[in-house]
Amino acid sequence: MKVLIVGASLSGLRTAQALRAGGFEGGITLAGAEPHLPYDRPPLSKQVLLGTRTRADADLEEAGTLADLDLDLQTGVVATGLDVSAATVELGGRPVGFDHLVIATGATPRRLPFGAGLRGVHTLRTVEDCQAIRTAMATGSAVVVIGGGFIGCEVASAAAAQGLPTTLLEMLPTPLFQSLGPQIGAMVAGMQRAAGIDVICGHGARALIEDGHGAVAGVELDDGRRLPAGLVVVGVGVVPETAWLESSGLALDNGVVCDQRLRASGHDHIRAVGDVARWDHPGLGRPVRVEHWTNAAESATHAAAGILGSDEAYGPVPYVWSDQLGHRIQTLGLPQAGDHLEIVDRQEGPKGEKLVGLYRHDGMLAAAVGIDFPGRLMKYRELLERGTRWEEALDFAAGLGA
Ligand SMILES: Cc1cc2nc3c(=O)[nH]c(=O)nc-3n(C[C@H](O)[C@H](O)[C@H](O)COP(=O)(O)OP(=O)(O)OC[C@H]3O[C@@H](n4cnc5c(N)ncnc54)[C@H](O)[C@@H]3O)c2cc1C
Repeated sequence: MKVLIVGASLSGLRTAQALRAGGFEGGITLAGAEPHLPYDRPPLSKQVLLGTRTRADADLEEAGTLADLDLDLQTGVVATGLDVSAATVELGGRPVGFDHLVIATGATPRRLPFGAGLRGVHTLRTVEDCQAIRTAMATGSAVVVIGGGFIGCEVASAAAAQGLPTTLLEMLPTPLFQSLGPQIGAMVAGMQRAAGIDVICGHGARALIEDGHGAVAGVELDDGRRLPAGLVVVGVGVVPETAWLESSGLALDNGVVCDQRLRASGHDHIRAVGDVARWDHPGLGRPVRVEHWTNAAESATHAAAGILGSDEAYGPVPYVWSDQLGHRIQTLGLPQAGDHLEIVDRQEGPKGEKLVGLYRHDGMLAAAVGIDFPGRLMKYRELLERGTRWEEALDFAAGLGA
């Protein structure tokens, strides 16, 4: 039996590892577009950008460990099409057959509709992006980060930590508004301002200003304000990498549409994992696509188990962490716009106030967020796993605080 995994990053590699750990002895091809061995992305907006870890530290596994997996590992190879009835993928210009296909092609940063090709304007997804941003930061020029999501906040944090004049621009009322809501967003904005970051919310960029020599010189806001910048980092979200599947007949809708077992709908031998998979979450009762590290790893393990014969549905409690300004923010579950947030625990910690907040949705505990309080936050995982009424969650919180 032959498994073909397209996308050789976290979720692709973890699928291959889980197959071998589960005793799979057939052929595994792991093929990816990047010219590198699989590497980890979280350090790219944190330690590698700050220079406290090197690019090599971000490798997911050492070459020897990869060799032990006995993979047909192909780097620098792009998949351009899938023929479902022939069970082949067009890989590097030739058809490659499979018994099982795992789609692990992740996501690609959204770009601005203006300023294409200007030097000094970057998104952050790959090691090349990270190295380019780091080089630009070393020149000491002013930085404008467009987009206050996790990656934008982390880049702003890294820029400010290096003493660069830094502005964070966010269209919504606060940074992290979509992921964590207005209250946590306002706290994070406060932390950013205290670190010297100029946080501008409720405004978008309408143009990039050119210096006359093909490089960026600044950002023009929708109210006409002009912010000087030698480096602009655009962090306005990602789109799932499904362009290569468009003529395949697979259902695509903000990712590869999958059933509760991560199988592409209607196809028993095709699965999607990681950032590219949009699956029917059995616990949440709605389709979700999760762009976080832990889901990439866990969905890979789950898909591998499915190939090896497991029939379990995939219903994890989503988890994300983010390190910024010396603080660790963590979330369990997926807060939705309009969820009520209640801070249930606040204590003085070594880095200032540490806290845990709970989100309510339809009378149920929907998610939990922590700032610098990992041990306390993790106590809510079990409640989220089994589904817990809001009052019970508050009683539980009160018991912890006692
Ligand atoms: C800078 C950064 C920081 C992050 N920090 C955190 C964090 O702190 N916490 C957290 O929870 N998550 C974080 N994440 C998110 C996390 O890294 C992703 O969820 C994870 O990388 C997803 O893994 P993946 O394998 O699904 O996709 P990807 O990592 O996107 O990998 C997909 C791979 O497929 C390849 N590919 C795409 N199309 C094709 C094709 N047609 N043919 C062949 N190959 C193809 C791509 O080149 C890529 O190598 C961060 C992400 C970034 C970019």
